[in-house]
Amino acid sequence: MSEKIPNDVSGNLKKNYPVSLTVFFPCYNEQDNLETTIKNALETLQNINADYEIIIVNDGSSDNTTDIADNLARENPRIKVIHHHENLGYGAALQSGFKNAEKNLVFYTDGDGQFDINELPPLLTLIKKFDIVSCYRINRQDSLIRKINGFLWTKLVCLLFRMKIKDIDCAFKLYKTEIFDNIKLSSSGALIDAEILARAVKKGYKVTQKPVHHFPRTAGSQTGAKLKVILKAFIELFKLYRKIKKE
Ligand code: UDP
Ligand code: MG
Repeated sequence: MSEKIPNDVSGNLKKNYPVSLTVFFPCYNEQDNLETTIKNALETLQNINADYEIIIVNDGSSDNTTDIADNLARENPRIKVIHHHENLGYGAALQSGFKNAEKNLVFYTDGDGQFDINELPPLLTLIKKFDIVSCYRINRQDSLIRKINGFLWTKLVCLLFRMKIKDIDCAFKLYKTEIFDNIKLSSSGALIDAEILARAVKKGYKVTQKPVHHFPRTAGSQTGAKLKVILKAFIELFKLYRKIKKE
């Protein structure tokens, strides 16, 4: 007699997927990018033999992102949405994504189309031997001044937290989800990437790095170069350095 294979909630035969993966996107006012971002993600994920979920973190958008995200989730049970009722910042958006990730691996990239999710599959091979795959932009599509600031920021963070990371803020990273059960995050702003890596490296998690392509923003507006965002990152950096030193 053949063994009975149970069905999952969608009525499909349950498979033993080799990969269990949460993919999430922080989104603040991405009404003109979100649908394409999710369409591309679904195309890539359907080609991977994975048990996956997609999370849209709507960080208090004031445009149509809220409705678009809700509609996408209504159409596909693999998509869920976390709404922040006000704009809490990039770090808070990332924290929500990690907190709500239910699969064994968690990947995030921006919701604005500046990265190509087709570059995700090779990271899934690398994570078998490491705990974190942290990518670096090989052709960063930003102004010269932002590129210089980004370079100096990465150097400063690496010096303070004794790490060797090529591009701290590159929004194309894959983590083992268990890491987030073992570190406590506090940054709500742009320092979040540095905080995660600093805390994870201190706990002994192993990082590998891989180049990725970067594309210009074609719709919506960037927030990463705003003076308010940069000042908040420096204030959070100063506090984090003191906190980690005490710990
Ligand atoms: N974002 C967010 N909350 C914010 C600011 C940005 O969730 O307070 C999202 C934004 O929608 C985008 C990603 O974070 O998907 C990166 O933001 P942005 O493109 O403005 O930064 P940059 O690429 O200029 O560094
Ligand atoms: Mg961007």
